[in-house]
Amino acid sequence: MDSLITRPKVPRLIGSKLNAVQCNNCGNIRFPARTYCKKCQSTDLSSILIGPIGEIVTYTTPYKKTPGDKQQIFGIVQLYSEDGKSSIGLSGVFKTDNFEKVQIGKKVELLPNERNNIFKLVEE
Ligand SMILES: [Zn+2]
Repeated sequence: MDSLITRPKVPRLIGSKLNAVQCNNCGNIRFPARTYCKKCQSTDLSSILIGPIGEIVTYTTPYKKTPGDKQQIFGIVQLYSEDGKSSIGLSGVFKTDNFEKVQIGKKVELLPNERNNIFKLVEE
C-alpha cells in the first residue's frame, strides 16, 4: 500500500491528459503520480503527459442496473503519450448512447474530469 508521503500533491489531469510520471531508470509509468517507481524503486522520475487519445482494450456491460440509473458500459483503454512511445491502461466509463459502437480497438478520447475516467468515442 502507498503511504501518503509517496503521493505528490499534483493535479490528476492537465487539460484532458493524465499527469503521470515515468521512471528514468526503467521506463515504467505510474499514474496517479507517485514519488518512486513501483518496478525498480528508483526516485529518479520525470513527468509525462498521457492521452487523451487511446484504444479500447476490453469492455463490459453490467447486467444489473441500479434503479433510476442509466445503464453504463465500462472498460479498459490503452492511452498513449504524445510521441506514441509510452502508454498505460486505464479503466473507466464510456460515454455513448450507442453501445454497439463500443468495440475493441476503437479509438476513444479521455474527457477532462477530475473525479472519474470518462471516455468518448472518436468518430471516424
Ligand atoms: Zn523504474
